[in-house]
Amino acid sequence: MKIDPDLKLELLEKAGIYSNRLSIDEPKIVFKTKEVLAMSKQITEGRRTTAYKYYGITYLDHNLVFLNIRKMPDEKTIENTLVHELIHLRFPYLSHGKKFNKLIRQTLKGKRFPPYKKRKQ
Ligand SMILES: [Zn+2]
Repeated sequence: MKIDPDLKLELLEKAGIYSNRLSIDEPKIVFKTKEVLAMSKQITEGRRTTAYKYYGITYLDHNLVFLNIRKMPDEKTIENTLVHELIHLRFPYLSHGKKFNKLIRQTLKGKRFPPYKKRKQ
């Protein structure tokens, strides 16, 4: 889709709403590969020049999300990708799969989650 200011604003609003449901700090969100490349290499290490291939990327340690709007066909896909990336931030230990997809659906439907607590070793 084309990046326009209205769409960006709408997505930032949605990021706020979903971050709240997931009890996470709202991440910084960037929308262009150019913005990814403009960030320091320490932040985007390993997923920099390949960013254009993906719908979305979460840079966990930096609370940063890249949403590749230009690559995605419609708003529904963008919203799904946004929630997908936010789930990575709330459930950093969880990998992709059935449980992960269920959490995406629940979050989209309005379920709320308590803050993530790191388990002490
Ligand atoms: Zn993922």
